[in-house]
Amino acid sequence: MKITDHIKNANGKTLFSFEIVPPIKGKNIQGLYDNIDPLMEFNPPFIDVTTSREEYIYIEKDGLFDKKMTRMRPGTVGICASLKHKYDVDTVPHVLCGGFTKEETEYMLVDCQYLGIENIMALRGDAMKDEKYFVTAKGGHSYATDLVNQIQNLNNGKYLHDDVKMDSLPGFCIGVAGYPEKHMEAPSLQSDLKRLKEKVEAGADYVVTQMFFDNQKYFEFVDAARAMGIMVPIIPGIKPIAVKRHLQILPQVFKIDLPQDLIDAVDVCKDNKEVRQVGIEWAIQQSKKLKEAGVPVLHYYSMGKSDNIKAIAKALF
Ligand code: FAD
Repeated sequence: MKITDHIKNANGKTLFSFEIVPPIKGKNIQGLYDNIDPLMEFNPPFIDVTTSREEYIYIEKDGLFDKKMTRMRPGTVGICASLKHKYDVDTVPHVLCGGFTKEETEYMLVDCQYLGIENIMALRGDAMKDEKYFVTAKGGHSYATDLVNQIQNLNNGKYLHDDVKMDSLPGFCIGVAGYPEKHMEAPSLQSDLKRLKEKVEAGADYVVTQMFFDNQKYFEFVDAARAMGIMVPIIPGIKPIAVKRHLQILPQVFKIDLPQDLIDAVDVCKDNKEVRQVGIEWAIQQSKKLKEAGVPVLHYYSMGKSDNIKAIAKALF
């Protein structure tokens, strides 16, 4: 089912969902199941599966280093299919502009249609690890809007190059990213919102936000988006702090602010077990207020172990 239909059918009740990261190459899928199993009692209508960009590795041979390209966490669409089959849940593959040609994207979308995957999260992706800025792949898209356009064209029966009549249209429901504290490259929140509006006008059906730790940022973002005419559901993304190093990593990587109260609470923790507990309690308080405000879905970023997401879900759903 489409995410937008799940939201409509919920009649104003807040739904629970989460995002998982494919296992690193070499690990089997059981570890992923072991982390998802405890969350299924909270009836997530959908699970997002991220896609990681390709990266360079250096292989030593006879004293020289050979630069090779690899993808450390392949398998997004396969994992979506396996979760759908195992749990009878809708899955949302993240599809990136970065590192993919438009043709590769088309083949991936065709696979999704065969697998009965009805939702796609359309993203640009970040710069590669050793590049400062995002570089458009040869034959790929530069912005998520272009990717949304490609998906919408397919929804309307138009492949990239082939003039073929489709027996059935894929009808993908399309999600895009939104940034309550603006995207790191955007010159201002207002101009980033204009770009978000372009994504919605191109056909995006809903927005999932970047993590934020101060609900006020989300509420102001939604108000500003509505004032600009962005009327699709805006799903808040929540990440519980789990280790002390998050205090440095999250602002550095995602260019977001952390509230001083949260920083102080983490600072006094003796170990990461205590930090994990602080993260859980903060996320519960944040989620309770968002739920009271009637958000359509509470979407959690679960990196690896899911015990913290389970503790949060137990307090809310
Ligand atoms: P875009 O919407 O294309 O925007 C990127 C920047 O370009 C913004 O600053 C925007 O203001 C600007 N812009 C947009 N259009 C134009 C234009 N026409 N001209 C000039 N500027 C423009 N990354 C992954 O690698 N894998 C994932 O699975 C993944 N999942 C994510 C899930 C969510 C919910 C979120 C919020 C982010 C996720 N990301 C993921 C990170 C995302 O790929 C990065 O934040 C990326 O830098 C931007 O992606 P976007 O789709 O928002 O890009």
